[in-house]
Amino acid sequence: MAAVGSYEAAQKCAGSAFQRMGVEGLAPTPVNFTIFYHYFSGKVPQLKRAMDNVAASEKGFTDEICQALYDKCLGENQQRRLTSAVQAEIRRALEALSSLVDEAGRGAESYGNALDQFSDRMNAETGLNSLRQAVDNITTRTRAMKSQNEKLSLELSEATQNMDVLREDLESVRREALSDGLTGLGNRRYFDIELRTAVAEAGDAGQPLSLLMADIDKFKVLNDTFGHQTGDEVLKLVARIMKETVKGRDTPSRYGGEEFAVILPKTPMKGAMQLAEQIRAAVAGKRFVRRSSGTALGTVTLSLGVATLRAGDRTSDLIARADAALYAAKRQGRNRVLAETAAGAPPPATSARQPADAAAGLSGTAAAGR
Ligand code: GH3
Ligand code: MG
Ligand code: MG
Repeated sequence: MAAVGSYEAAQKCAGSAFQRMGVEGLAPTPVNFTIFYHYFSGKVPQLKRAMDNVAASEKGFTDEICQALYDKCLGENQQRRLTSAVQAEIRRALEALSSLVDEAGRGAESYGNALDQFSDRMNAETGLNSLRQAVDNITTRTRAMKSQNEKLSLELSEATQNMDVLREDLESVRREALSDGLTGLGNRRYFDIELRTAVAEAGDAGQPLSLLMADIDKFKVLNDTFGHQTGDEVLKLVARIMKETVKGRDTPSRYGGEEFAVILPKTPMKGAMQLAEQIRAAVAGKRFVRRSSGTALGTVTLSLGVATLRAGDRTSDLIARADAALYAAKRQGRNRVLAETAAGAPPPATSARQPADAAAGLSGTAAAGR
């Protein structure tokens, strides 16, 4: 593999990228070029693995897939670069502050020495001239100290303002790094962090914690029928419905592709099942319409699985049980909510709700299983 860094190595990666884009029938857009360049540099193993999988798949590369790979594997690198740029700014600001304080310290020390000398002279001398001279001297020093302090105070207040701006920059980089660009929900990283915290807190406080996982039914059919962009619009709408249904209580996240998760602290199974059913009904009850053309897209449904934290659970145990319940909901016909069973696997034939007319997925369409 070519070592990146030298001109020749970079040229080799760029050449291979152009050649491969040609083979794949892709236009050499900046996004396509970037992911293929990094593919040949081998510097982003996650990207390389994902691209090998796409290459081995039937569908192969498309502009949409390249964009998704870029967002997933290189977007975060970008964020990391941004974060370290802000960190460098903060370091510079701190160095400037620390030299200001050093300067002020030196000024204060010499002013202190002058005051000591003045006091010694007060004790030793009584002559009027000498006293006046000493007073003049200390007045001058005091004025200088005052003006130095004014300058310092101004500089300190500027530095404080700069630090505030930097803090806001950092906060917005952090927010961006944890949110999903398409739906505005928390992303997978956000979910992982929140779930770790929630599991630890529930364990410490001895309180219940539930996890709800939801997956759009037959979403591939929707994409294939109406196009990827319409699929994206539907994802945004489903996310909005979830956000509105969950309201201020808990934050839903986009777990991946067309899968969502909601962490429910202080919520036992019964409450979590009720919320899951509210979400299911809210999505199933919505008539989806393509915004640009007004074309009716029919209904969209979700399958949901719910699990509750058990003693000794790791986050992965809770996720696995909610996911198993979700898979079981798919197997039982979709557009339904299932709870985990006591044994860990969901029951084969019982569901929280059996829709009378289980029109799972996009109405009027059918597709192969999950
Ligand atoms: P099931 O009911 O079994 O869940 O079927 P499904 O078609 O929803 O599931 P499958 O896993 O077969 O397909 C998921 C599809 O979701 C395929 C993928 O292209 C699509 N998808 C994932 N992420 C996105 C996205 O960000 N935008 C769009 N438009 N589609 C996406
Ligand atoms: Mg699905
Ligand atoms: Mg899925």
